[in-house]
Amino acid sequence: MEESATIAMSRKSRELIAEGKDIISLSLGEPDFNTPDFIKAAAIKAMEDNYTFYTPVPGYLDLRQSISKKFKRDNNLDYSPDQIVVSTGAKQSIANAVLSLVNEGDEVIIPAPYWVSYLEIVKVAEGHPVVIPAGIENDFKITGTELEAAITDKTKLIIFSTPCNPTGSVYSKAELADLASVLERHPNIVIIADEIYEHINFTSKHESLAQFPSIKNQVVTVNGVSKAWAMTGWRLGYLGASKEIADACSKMQGQFTSATSSITQKAAIAALEADPVVLKDMIAAFASRRKLVLDALNEMEGVKANVPEGAFYVFPDISYFFGKSYNGRTINNCNDLSLYLLDEALVALVLGDAFGDPNCIRISYATSETILTEAMRRIREALEKLT
Ligand code: PMP
Ligand code: GLU
Repeated sequence: MEESATIAMSRKSRELIAEGKDIISLSLGEPDFNTPDFIKAAAIKAMEDNYTFYTPVPGYLDLRQSISKKFKRDNNLDYSPDQIVVSTGAKQSIANAVLSLVNEGDEVIIPAPYWVSYLEIVKVAEGHPVVIPAGIENDFKITGTELEAAITDKTKLIIFSTPCNPTGSVYSKAELADLASVLERHPNIVIIADEIYEHINFTSKHESLAQFPSIKNQVVTVNGVSKAWAMTGWRLGYLGASKEIADACSKMQGQFTSATSSITQKAAIAALEADPVVLKDMIAAFASRRKLVLDALNEMEGVKANVPEGAFYVFPDISYFFGKSYNGRTINNCNDLSLYLLDEALVALVLGDAFGDPNCIRISYATSETILTEAMRRIREALEKLT
């Protein structure tokens, strides 16, 4: 298994900053906002009320009731509390599901670009990743026909995200219906729909894959509080699934971590019970940053950017620079380019290879406009030196 590329790059940036280098890190997908005060207050109250003991493995019942209501309110999905498992981040929700479902040699279809950890978690389960590439010309999305072509009698699982990390692409209801029409013909295949960026959507209403009744039982809907509620360090994610899959995930978790923090669980109730309308200022800030980054990228010769509809990433194609050089240093691939930008522009980005597209590079714009403006200026200057 490889080290997580997102985490490796943020570690490297932290080390360089500690050495006194003026690095701008646009490598980690983490909101720069503070956790809202009403959530912190709920955590303080939980401690004062002595919610400091082991909790039920799948999470407190009142938390799972709040999640059940949230699924109904935001996604029109019916998941009862016994179909919900709360974990130490959506990352663990995904790991629980993959480890529960995948046996050695099982095929797991992963449309690329994909989030870094999907492939590596599948490898830990000794599954065989089957990657379907979706290029920038298709807004990085796959169709039902492409999915059907990748399915074999060994296919056990499919993992994808909408809104997508790293591309920001969002599947419309019609596009999901197209995938569902294929999946309903393969009732033994499970699909993990990672919807952790659901609220960070600039153009449309979020659509869940599990809304199609014919495949609802095949879908594991993953979500969490890290992104929308700026709670990355609190570590809480959750999934809704058939009771059979939820029970398996709970059993797995009971041997690994028992449950996530009792205090975090109580705080998450406050977040999940709140009206998502309170997120509108944060979403507006992300929309304005997206515009800033896209405008800057569109002015750079050779950079081809898609317009991401959600999340807080842009995933431009930078293959134009392959073969170009500066100061005796030649850029042969996206790894070379990301190291060149780190040394020459002092900007940390994550190479597209880690997300399954070697022509691209990921920019996380979850930081202030002042920092983004400076980062874009530096990137442009460094790229213009390459000839
Ligand atoms: N899925 C995607 C697509 C992500 O970008 C992240 C980012 N961390 C996660 C899952 C996991 O989030 P967390 O473990 O913080 O809930
Ligand atoms: N999901 C974020 C990212 O893609 C956080 C880092 C991680 O969990 O890998 O950057």
